[in-house]
Amino acid sequence: MSSASTKTAVDLDNPTPEQKAQAVADLRARLSEEINSYCSDLDKSASMIKTWYQWRMDSRIDDLPVCMPDNTFPAPYPIRGYLSIADANLTAGVQVKESQIKLNRFFGGGCWHKRDKDGHPVYIERIGRYKIKDIPKLCTMGELFEFHYLMQEFLSKTIFPECSQLAGHDISSQVVVFDLAGISIGMLSHIPALNMLREMLAKDQLCYPECMHRTYVVNAPAMFVTAWKYIKGWLDPRVISKIHILGKEFSNELLEQIPAENLPSFLGGSCRCSHMPGGCVPSATTNNYPDLPRKAYTNLRYQARMSYSDPRHSFAFEVPPLTPSGSANPSPAGTPQLGYANWFGLKKDSPKLTSNSSSSGGFDYASSSSSSSPRSRFVYLRFLADRGRGMVIEVVWRPYSSADSAMVREQDEVLIYPEMLLDPQRAPVVLELKVPNRSGMLVFNWRIANFDEGQAPFPTPEEAQIPILLEYSVDVEEDLLREFALSPIRRE
Ligand SMILES: [Zn+2]
Repeated sequence: MSSASTKTAVDLDNPTPEQKAQAVADLRARLSEEINSYCSDLDKSASMIKTWYQWRMDSRIDDLPVCMPDNTFPAPYPIRGYLSIADANLTAGVQVKESQIKLNRFFGGGCWHKRDKDGHPVYIERIGRYKIKDIPKLCTMGELFEFHYLMQEFLSKTIFPECSQLAGHDISSQVVVFDLAGISIGMLSHIPALNMLREMLAKDQLCYPECMHRTYVVNAPAMFVTAWKYIKGWLDPRVISKIHILGKEFSNELLEQIPAENLPSFLGGSCRCSHMPGGCVPSATTNNYPDLPRKAYTNLRYQARMSYSDPRHSFAFEVPPLTPSGSANPSPAGTPQLGYANWFGLKKDSPKLTSNSSSSGGFDYASSSSSSSPRSRFVYLRFLADRGRGMVIEVVWRPYSSADSAMVREQDEVLIYPEMLLDPQRAPVVLELKVPNRSGMLVFNWRIANFDEGQAPFPTPEEAQIPILLEYSVDVEEDLLREFALSPIRRE
C-alpha cells in the first residue's frame, strides 16, 4: 500500500501548479474510462461530491466506531478468513449497540467470507431467512442506516486495504452472494420492507458507488421475477449489468468466481468453518449458533491476569458424564449411561425447519430428526480480554482412563481445537467444542499473541507492561441454553 509514496513529498497546503496538474493526471489515469467520462461533466461531479460530503458530515460518518487493525472496536458483522481482523461473530460486547444486536436477530445471517479468485472480498447474506415483516415494524430507518454505514466503512477502511495488499493491486469492490433459500411470496411483496430496501439502495448508490464487483442472487424462486422487475427500477443500469440471478443450479457459476475452499458448503463449496459457532454464515433466524444475551458476557465466572512476561493461562474443565434421560443425578464417572435425550445435538426438537429443508438447497435437518442415537455433546467457552492485540487459544481433550475414572494419561490427549488467533479484546468470543461421548476433561490453553502474530500494531514498551485481564466461562450446552432460555441449536 505504500509503494506509490516514494516520490518527493508534496506540501498539500501549498502544492506547485505542476504538482497539482500531475496529481490530477495521476488520478485520471487510475480511474476507469467510464468514471472519467462521467466526471468530465463538471457540474454533475461537483453536485455529487457536495451531496456526498454533506451526507458524511450530517451522518457523522467519521465518528463511527469502525473496526480497524490499530483500534479495538468490534467487527460490525461476522467475518471469516481475513488476516487483519480475527474471525468473529456478532456478539453483545460492550462496544456493540443494542440496535445492532436487535437488527441482527431479524437478519437472516451474513458474513464476509474469504476472497474470490481475483482477491475481492466475498460477502454472503441469507436474504431468504430474514424476518422481513419484523424489520419495518420494529426497526427504524435510522438504525438500519447506522448499521449499514458502519459495515460499509469497515469494508472500505479495513477489508479493501487488506485485499489490495494481498492482491498487489487496488481492490475496491466486493462479490456479493444473496441466498434467497426460504423466501416466500409474502416476503417478496411486503411493501414496507420494499420501501426500506429502496431507500437503502438509493443511499448506497450515492454514498458508496462502485463498491460491488458482482452480485449473485441464488436460490431465486420463479416468483422472484416479479419483485426483480420493481427492484431493477431503483438501480443504475451499470449496477444491474453486474447482477446474476440464479435459481437452484448456481454452484458451478459461483465456483467459477470463488474457489471451492473459500465457498461455504451450503453454497456448493467445501468450506465449513467448523472452528466458529454457526459455521461459515452464522444466522440468528436459522438458530445455528447460540445467540446469547448481553448478560452472558458481563457475568463471566473466572478471571486471570496475563502479561507479556507471563503470557500463558490454562484451565481444566471436567465434562460431566452423560446423565440418564430425566434424571437429575449424574451417573458415576466412568460408567456412561445411555440417557442421551438430555444432550442437544439431538435433532428431535427442530421440526420447524424439516418441512422446507428439502427445498432450501443444502440444509438437511430432516435426516437426523427421527434418530435417537447418541449425538455429540457440545461445550461452550466464552471469553474476553480488557486489552491487548489478540489471543491464541487451543483446546485439548483428555479422556479418563477406563481403569481409574479420575486418571488422565497425557498420551491419550487429543487436540480438538488447534491454535487459533482470536480478538477477545474487541468483543466476547464464543467457541463451540464438540466433545467425545465419554468422561474426561477439556483443557483450555490461552497465550497472548506474539509480536509477529496478527496485524495489529506492536504494543509500546509501556503498553506491554500493563497486565491483560482475561475473563471466561465454560458451560455444557444444555446448561447454557437453560440459563438463558434459548432453544436448541440447529446444526447444519
Ligand atoms: Zn467457511
